Amino acid sequence: MVGKIAYYADLLRQKQLSARELTQSYLDRIARDNPALNAYITVAADFALAQADAVDRRRMAGEDLPMLAGIPMTVKDNISTKGILTTCASKILSNYVPVFNAFAVERIYANGGVMLGKTNLDEFGMGSTCEHSAYGATRNPVDRTRVPGGSSGGGAAAVAADLAVYALGSDTGGSIRQPSAFCGTVGFKPTYGMVSRWGLIAYASSLDQIGVIAPTVEDAAIVTDAIALPDPMDATCSPASRPSAYAGLKRDVKGLKIGLIRNLFRGLNPVIENAVRAAAEHFRTLGAEVVEVEAERLDLVLPVYYILACAEAASNLSRYDGVRYGVRAKGATSFEEMVCKTRSEGFGDEVKRRIMLGNYVLSSGYFDAYYKKAQEMRNGLIADLDALLRSVDCLLAPTVASTAFGIGEFNSLSPVEMYLTDLCTVPVNVCGLPAISLPCGKDEKGLPIGLQLIGKRFADADLLAYANAYQTTREG
Ligand code: GLN
Repeated sequence: MVGKIAYYADLLRQKQLSARELTQSYLDRIARDNPALNAYITVAADFALAQADAVDRRRMAGEDLPMLAGIPMTVKDNISTKGILTTCASKILSNYVPVFNAFAVERIYANGGVMLGKTNLDEFGMGSTCEHSAYGATRNPVDRTRVPGGSSGGGAAAVAADLAVYALGSDTGGSIRQPSAFCGTVGFKPTYGMVSRWGLIAYASSLDQIGVIAPTVEDAAIVTDAIALPDPMDATCSPASRPSAYAGLKRDVKGLKIGLIRNLFRGLNPVIENAVRAAAEHFRTLGAEVVEVEAERLDLVLPVYYILACAEAASNLSRYDGVRYGVRAKGATSFEEMVCKTRSEGFGDEVKRRIMLGNYVLSSGYFDAYYKKAQEMRNGLIADLDALLRSVDCLLAPTVASTAFGIGEFNSLSPVEMYLTDLCTVPVNVCGLPAISLPCGKDEKGLPIGLQLIGKRFADADLLAYANAYQTTREG
């Protein structure tokens, strides 16, 4: 199977297609399908065509261009793009135009990438359905009565519906992998510290990581190589050089040792369980050894994640005060009232809920009982997963315990019901590990099922190679 980037890169290189023609064909499809899908918040047609023209001019001048040159892509709307509206799907940033590019965006541009526009998300990345957006819900292209997942639902829907070749997303607790599972795309969340967070608008800084949503593992590897570089602007970004994921992609997995995380299969819907176990079986036929492992303390991961994520969110979102960024509420007669009105009118319910939860767990008297305890548990979980990853090469689990939810399915339920669905994706963020979701079958309604592979810290290239071995030998 040839990846989509390599396919278009070849046509562009042979001048059978110009970057402008390719970009225009994507813009035409966006004009046709986006009104129903609502994957894009902003379409930057003129900007994209200008980038495409610049690539065409360089090619005509005989320059040898990188693979990503002229390939149309999209960026999640919580990643800063200079001169282009960046809303975080929030009313509070409905007028925010960044004055600089995120490091990852800068890298895509340096490779000649064509940025079609900004894709929808749950406000500030908080949610698992892409319904918590001030700009309306995104629909799943596989079944439009369903959600694409979240929070990077717009990016996954855009890639699945071919409204972009690939998407940059962010993953704090599953936001790249879970929508990829729901839309049938590949979603790769790199190790914490692989990709600079410079210009990624913070939700929970110790968990956030930029990554890729793409049609194939090969595409994800090409994009990862372009964006995963040291960056002094992010102190948590590793200064070490990274091996090329693309160059190391084609590998034999004979003798590979895979640990199937038994805890995450307990009580699982049998259709999902069968599909994921069949994927493990497929690895066996490729010569890998699959053993069942138990991750201790995994039952604690959801409270740990939601305490830490909300605490960090409460702190990060305190900057939206109507003074420094975004929209300021009108009609206030004092500073206090202005801040209060701005935040009350500007944030949606889910964001407010998390700010309140976060401030609660950080408040004196509760700090030790919640925040400090969650930090201690986090260290325990890291030790557990690191120990497991010393005994195997990678871990295998479902990405989500279900296929795509119906639109509005959680409306009448407690918000905790939605949080519970993040069980299989959050351990990776809490522990800072790399993980990938890739399609491994469909349920009885034809909805995609996601297989998740979790790798060793900074062994991202190895993980992509294992995933590629699976994907290239098990099509259809
Ligand atoms: N669903 C998770 C949350 O709401 C993950 C979101 C994300 O990764 N941005 O926190």
